Amino acid sequence: MDDLAYFKKLEYQNEAYEALCNRCGVCCGATTSDPCANLTKRADGTYACGIYGTRHGIQTSASGGMFVCVNIREVISSGADYPDCPYCGNGPR
Ligand code: SF4
Ligand code: SF4
Repeated sequence: MDDLAYFKKLEYQNEAYEALCNRCGVCCGATTSDPCANLTKRADGTYACGIYGTRHGIQTSASGGMFVCVNIREVISSGADYPDCPYCGNGPR
């Protein structure tokens, strides 16, 4: 496999991994009283991050509290186990 084919495969695998997310927003605090300030609810009831491409790092919650946004793998590794999240439980990690 040449470099281009390899990187295309990685890109495809990453997109497939990202597509597993059901956009429930739970990992961003959607079901709490103080969700991330970057989280918005869409017309179809799902959630979206307004800064997804640059999300990792210090962020603020709706009430102004500071926290660090990390990828879902780290969230799960630290003990989170959201019932409807396909990355948790028996899902891919
Ligand atoms: S909890 Fe899982 S399914 Fe829900 S938004 Fe977060 S990563 Fe996506
Ligand atoms: S910055 Fe992080 S915690 Fe906030 S909405 Fe985006 S992904 Fe979720």
